[in-house]
Amino acid sequence: MTENVLTGIREQFFGDDPLEVRETDHYTQEYVGGMVDKWDDLIDWERRAAGEGRFFVDQLKARGVRSVLDVATGTGFHSVQLIEAGFETVSADGSPQMLAKAFRNGMDNGGHLLRVVNADWRWLNRDVHGEFDAVICLGNSFTHLFSEHDRRKALAEFYAMLKHDGVLIIDQRNYDALLDGKAGGKSSYYYCGTEVEAVPDHVDDGLARYRYEFPDGSEYHLNMYPLRRDYLRGLLRDVGFQRIDTFGDFQEHPVDEPDFYIHVAEKT
Ligand code: SAM
Repeated sequence: MTENVLTGIREQFFGDDPLEVRETDHYTQEYVGGMVDKWDDLIDWERRAAGEGRFFVDQLKARGVRSVLDVATGTGFHSVQLIEAGFETVSADGSPQMLAKAFRNGMDNGGHLLRVVNADWRWLNRDVHGEFDAVICLGNSFTHLFSEHDRRKALAEFYAMLKHDGVLIIDQRNYDALLDGKAGGKSSYYYCGTEVEAVPDHVDDGLARYRYEFPDGSEYHLNMYPLRRDYLRGLLRDVGFQRIDTFGDFQEHPVDEPDFYIHVAEKT
């Protein structure tokens, strides 16, 4: 982690060879400083809400869900949407800076007092108490886990947080298309800010490194693991989920190559 000498704020740090940064723990050094401040410009709450429509609310309501654990709260977009739709929501994240922003966003968008918990997915049950009807892990967050061991551990922790008939909703970028050279990577449903460029800087089987360029000239990066769709479906099945429905850009049968996949995984 580096500190900006002028502002005293911690900023992203990828060392001498950013392409060698392939560690799960590194996300705590990526969601800091300017990247946290800029995140909402990247996703644009209003446009994102319009793009998603009622998809998540409908999926949850159809299953009788009342309580939701948002494990990748980020700046709070889904937590706030779900509170407004009447769900009891707990908002967890491993980045205290993102959670602080989420808390402020909750207050600023309807005066909601978010119940925030700073927790890493790998030790979720140690830090978050209770059982939930649903766990959501959205916004291409699971991609931050760089080892299969960490992915299995995190999914087992999500599974254990759920009631016996609970549901996990988890999404991912369509990395298959990226790895197979089929897509450029503009994600109009998720990164809705029109003035922000999200460009894949480097892609190989073990790393997708994206560059985010903002109108003020600032630039940030995220190093992510390029999950293949069927690989994640397999992990969900291995951990015990009985039924997994996968949507492409919120459609059951997308016409074109989707930007994102959303898996709805049921325990029973
Ligand atoms: N869900 C939000 C959205 O859609 O705008 C935020 C998405 S952001 C891409 C990913 C979030 O996942 C970050 O806030 C990051 O701190 C969190 N995260 C990544 N790895 C994590 C881990 N191992 N444990 C807990 N949180 C993690």
